[in-house]
Amino acid sequence: MKFSKIKQNDIANGIGIVMSLWTQGCPHHCRGCFNVETWDFDEGKEFTINDLNFIIENIDKNNIKRNLSILGGEPLCPQNVDGVISLCKELKGKYPEKMIYVWTGYVVEDFNENQREVLNYIDVLVDGKFEEEEKNLSIVLRGSNNQRVIDVKKYLENDKIIKLDL
Ligand code: SF4
Repeated sequence: MKFSKIKQNDIANGIGIVMSLWTQGCPHHCRGCFNVETWDFDEGKEFTINDLNFIIENIDKNNIKRNLSILGGEPLCPQNVDGVISLCKELKGKYPEKMIYVWTGYVVEDFNENQREVLNYIDVLVDGKFEEEEKNLSIVLRGSNNQRVIDVKKYLENDKIIKLDL
């Protein structure tokens, strides 16, 4: 997995304060993307054990209880998905109570086996590409109306999309 940055305190990408990890590389190239600098797979840094430890050790820094948001870029493309699985598994192992949010340009019904594995370790999935014609600045956690904020546990239990009540 490659990433572009880790933000210690982020209030724009989650409910409350989150630590956010911005993965690097995106195959979708949505028109109007607000984050084109994360498209290039040759940019960014390799996510190492030191970065993982940084997240584990600092997620509650200064006694602030943070959740984790993973954005991009595309966290669930083949180049990044294994790293995302390891990170989420590790964080949930240490902090089961923490919520993990993941944003992806793929839609959950089309997930392959690897992408589905991520669902075992996360709480909220925001899926779908950004669509400029559907852009909406007033909706929570999303950039366009087609994107869905999915309650992952309920999705797995019921095998149908249950949107999070925000
Ligand atoms: S999926 Fe996200 S990062 Fe990738 S092009 Fe679309 S909006 Fe940009």
